Amino acid sequence: MLNLSASLVASATVNQRRRATTDTLVKLRREIESCRACPRLVRWREAVARDKRAAYREDVYWGKPIAGFGDADARIVVLGLAPGAHGANRTGRVFTGDRSGDWLFRAMHRAGLANQATSQQRDDGLTLHDAFVTVAVRCAPPDNSPSPLERKKCAPYLEREMALLKQARVVVCLGNFAYVAACEHFGVTRRPKFAHGLVVPVAGDATDRMPRGGVHLVCSYHPSQQNTFTGRLTEPMLDAVFATALGLAREAN
Ligand code: SF4
Repeated sequence: MLNLSASLVASATVNQRRRATTDTLVKLRREIESCRACPRLVRWREAVARDKRAAYREDVYWGKPIAGFGDADARIVVLGLAPGAHGANRTGRVFTGDRSGDWLFRAMHRAGLANQATSQQRDDGLTLHDAFVTVAVRCAPPDNSPSPLERKKCAPYLEREMALLKQARVVVCLGNFAYVAACEHFGVTRRPKFAHGLVVPVAGDATDRMPRGGVHLVCSYHPSQQNTFTGRLTEPMLDAVFATALGLAREAN
């Protein structure tokens, strides 16, 4: 009886914490969505939203910064570069409405981290379990190339998201840009060279930047068309990355 009461109290505490984190993430999302700190990126994201791609001329583009999306209790954080000009910058949700998102969420669905394999619109019913997807820079950049200064300006948003994701144990870095951003965030000074499948353990500390037990960075080629069309990244390669991430997350518990 006592054990049952204790487990009910523990479960109520977990639910309360989860609700509080979700509420704070929602507040942070509103703040991110109103940011105009980088003049070049603000001009670009709004020009793309105004001019549109012919295939989407009937759509109302989002044209604003993009916050992360997913499970407040996620052990696995997926970190991308920045919103796609006609993907997230059009639909308003990270990795949504473009081919990169198709690849990513198909793999996450196969790994049991997403309830569906497609990600087309903000209100399409996609939910993530044990995973949170975010980006290093929140505004769509020209040529997918934010400047180092723009990455630094945007870094506090990643820091604040990571500080809220207390259960995070693994960060899947999609591409070298995300890997560099993750290393900067976690204070990795001697950074091994980026490679697909590279795993970098980062020791924990007592700061808000990471859990006491530390985290693992797991690197993957970015699921951009440049990589998927050329066969540089295949679906089995991406599945192997998520299998590694899940294994490390389980071991960390
Ligand atoms: S890139 Fe980040 S810091 Fe710069 S305007 Fe967008 S949200 Fe703000």
